Amino acid sequence: MRIDLLTLFPEMCETVMAESIIGRARRKGAVQVCCHQIRNYAFDKHQRVDDSPFGGGMGMLMMAEPIALCMDDLIAHLGYKPYTIYLSPQGKTLTQKRVQELSKMDGLVLLCGHYEGIDERVLEAYVDEEISIGDYVVTGGELPALILADAVCRMLPGVLADDECFQLESHYHSLLEYPQYTRPAVWRGREVPQVLLSGHHENVNKWRREQSLLVTARKRPELLASAELTEQDRLFLSQHGFEVPNK
Ligand code: SAM
Repeated sequence: MRIDLLTLFPEMCETVMAESIIGRARRKGAVQVCCHQIRNYAFDKHQRVDDSPFGGGMGMLMMAEPIALCMDDLIAHLGYKPYTIYLSPQGKTLTQKRVQELSKMDGLVLLCGHYEGIDERVLEAYVDEEISIGDYVVTGGELPALILADAVCRMLPGVLADDECFQLESHYHSLLEYPQYTRPAVWRGREVPQVLLSGHHENVNKWRREQSLLVTARKRPELLASAELTEQDRLFLSQHGFEVPNK
């Protein structure tokens, strides 16, 4: 997969995307990430990319033309128009399901706004989808774009050690993950659940499934409505005093 970030802060994006698991995935060639400086497409001598909004009001808006020129350059380079996402507090909130769907695409463009946002006309012309990271406003689209890019990259083949790494994680099957422990077996008087030390895989898996159900019921009960639950899961939850919604 190829991910192109269009931003006023490419160094910030490059720094984050060079580190840890994503950095390693890039070096291995599992994903290609390119950060483009929108300011390079400004057409006046001061390299201005923003202007005040028509109709008055606070703040500045990113102008349409530098973004359009940056997009056109990218489209010409690739030979096709890649699926383009504008990170925006007005978009649909990002979910693990959408992350999985996006990870199947060949390429993504992530457009990062700044200031008061972007001239609506360039969004109409190029953007396929708006995605939000939550119902709050941050100063720029870079952190949201990096969150999206990170979540998508870890779904790509060869990035994590095994697909199981994310399949057992929170949200993949609409359940939260079970509690996890590492050495030492006793820490400040707190013991690891005995079953995890037993070496009995069947019992460990049963315990993990049950813990996953309990954690979800306690922390995010609304998720249970979209989880695949067996009759045994439902019985277990009701025995522990949790109401199980019908699918
Ligand atoms: N005036 C805009 C509004 O009220 O909808 C908010 C602009 S915000 C200060 C600047 C930029 O940050 C946006 O263009 C967008 O790219 C990004 N941004 C802010 N909050 C976001 C969120 N929750 N999810 C995704 N992007 C966000």
